[in-house]
Amino acid sequence: MSGAPSTPLSTALLIDGELVAGAGIAEPIFNPASGEVLTHIAEASTEQVESAIQAAHRAFAGWSRTTPQQRSRILLAIADAIQHQADHLARLEALNCGKPQHLARQDDLESAIDVFRFFAGAVRCQTGQLAGEYVPGYTSMVRRDPLGVVASIAPWNYPIMMAAWKIAPALAAGNTLVFKPSEHTPLSILALAPALAELLPAGVLNIVCGGGEGVGSHLVSHPRVRMVSLTGDIVTGQKILQAASKTLKRTHLELGGKAPVIVCNDADLEAVVQGVRTYGYYNAGQDCTAACRIYAQAGIHDKLVAELGWAVSSLRFASKRDADNEIGPLISTRQRDRVASFVERALSQPHIERVTGAAVHSGAGYYYQPTLLAGCLQRDEIVQREVFGPVVTVTRFDELSQAVDWANDSEYGLASSVWTRDLDKAMQIAARLQYGCTWINSHFMLVSEMPHGGLKRSGYGKDLSSDSLQDYSVVRHIMARHGETLT
Ligand code: NAD
Repeated sequence: MSGAPSTPLSTALLIDGELVAGAGIAEPIFNPASGEVLTHIAEASTEQVESAIQAAHRAFAGWSRTTPQQRSRILLAIADAIQHQADHLARLEALNCGKPQHLARQDDLESAIDVFRFFAGAVRCQTGQLAGEYVPGYTSMVRRDPLGVVASIAPWNYPIMMAAWKIAPALAAGNTLVFKPSEHTPLSILALAPALAELLPAGVLNIVCGGGEGVGSHLVSHPRVRMVSLTGDIVTGQKILQAASKTLKRTHLELGGKAPVIVCNDADLEAVVQGVRTYGYYNAGQDCTAACRIYAQAGIHDKLVAELGWAVSSLRFASKRDADNEIGPLISTRQRDRVASFVERALSQPHIERVTGAAVHSGAGYYYQPTLLAGCLQRDEIVQREVFGPVVTVTRFDELSQAVDWANDSEYGLASSVWTRDLDKAMQIAARLQYGCTWINSHFMLVSEMPHGGLKRSGYGKDLSSDSLQDYSVVRHIMARHGETLT
């Protein structure tokens, strides 16, 4: 998707209920599908970040005392506001990320709407431990209370969807927020800001734009901020943990991934090919759950490589007609060049075979050809490290135990899948995988009701589901002494 936007782009930040222009440096916002500058967004100045945090702090007293029903109604109204603007927001996602607009509308926007609706319901039906007399003459009960000001910091791969995943549970639990979108992709949340300003009391949700080292680290190190929620890179997570340790903030980290895909001899080959073609390359592979690290058993390996090669080379992208495109470009030239250098280093090794792709697309935009590499070994960098681009590797294995060991031999622990017609085998493998999620004969299916989050260096925060409400709240014990004698 290219071309100038048909409606003016919103560039105002949201601070203490007011839509205000950023007072910091104006940064260009690009369309990765064409390389054009779409607009400039002025970052929040240091004073504006401070005002946003103080506004969220002031708003907490009132918002934290609203009932679940009151918060639920507002979350439902936000869902309606997103739905009302969904076509426009999908267009902005397409412009700002280069992703196919029809997919943004069908997937990202529908998820964002559903997440607000889910948390509107979930907050009204939380359950917990029973109240009771655990010491004679005393009644104990448990409360679940919000934490205070949450700083939420989002990545660029699914801007409006990540905003929903972060904002909805934090607000539902009764916290107030300062939300920072990625410096690359602020357009959709800024377009929603006027509706959010109308629906929420002043200060409950503030939106500030800017880079990680400036605005981001100011948020993370501020003593009034009680929790930091990040979806981003492992290195960013480490920096945030260090900064947060000074004031012992709670952290919620959703970091990278390198999903193993174990394909057994008895798998439905067509389903695997279709699944990896879709979910290895969805969003141009800029997805922390991307099905990017295939372990194929010897009996199916050669057929899989051949058929997947054909399927991947048929992926459609960079067409002027949005409906024709299945994937978009990378977010930036930097990201595209990073992907290219991973592939170059991989192909400099004689045992790795290029099945398809492995080149920068020659037209406009930051596209990289969908790439399949075979003959990869467990020790290879391309098997071990997150590429975050349209690149899938295939590694051959003989014994299932070997595949499970290799799948677990990773710094990451976010998502995985196993493909077999034998459910017993699938369940045994799933039980042994050290990943936040394992799909069986599928990949990438996320639902609002189920938790999403990782193990190991993929982080430990849970998004989606009522587990996320728990992450954004704290359990408290209330104990009342009343004696044992009824007088
Ligand atoms: P990134 O870590 O570079 O940036 C993420 C956010 O952190 C941005 O808003 C950025 O401005 C901010 N940031 C950067 N440095 C900071 C600092 N020192 N202090 C505070 N904030 C800082 O990541 P990205 O490039 O935007 O996104 C890609 C990464 O995100 C990939 O590694 C991907 O796997 C990961 N990701 C994970 C999930 C998940 O659910 N686990 C989902 C999407 C993306």
